[in-house]
Amino acid sequence: MSEKTLFQQIIDREVDADIVHEDDRCVAFHDIDPQAPTHILIVPRTPIPSLDDLAPEDKDLVGHLFVVARELAQEEGLDGGYRTVINCGDDGGQSVYHLHLHLLGGRPFSWPPG
Ligand code: 5GP
Repeated sequence: MSEKTLFQQIIDREVDADIVHEDDRCVAFHDIDPQAPTHILIVPRTPIPSLDDLAPEDKDLVGHLFVVARELAQEEGLDGGYRTVINCGDDGGQSVYHLHLHLLGGRPFSWPPG
């Protein structure tokens, strides 16, 4: 059995996904169970398990994920706004333990989240 995370398998093209962006630091693909008309996951190539595992040297990488989110939001035409989410840990609703930034858009979102 593979010890790679699901998202690492997507990055390595062992599991299919609809990839919309990739560069030397991250890969972005459509969520398999979209919660909005646009729902893209932006995933670092480095398999950091969660936000709780970030080290100070990861700050440029995390900033890069957000810059990619902004670029993808523009490509998706999310002119009215959008939401970015990083779920962390069980209480945060994280289900895949490979750090990822959700980019959601194409409909209004309420607050507080569920
Ligand atoms: P989390 O709950 O960890 O914040 O987000 C994990 C996300 O991964 C969920 O929104 C879920 O729908 C998505 N997901 C789970 N399995 C797959 C898959 O095999 N392919 C893709 N593209 N997304 C997946």
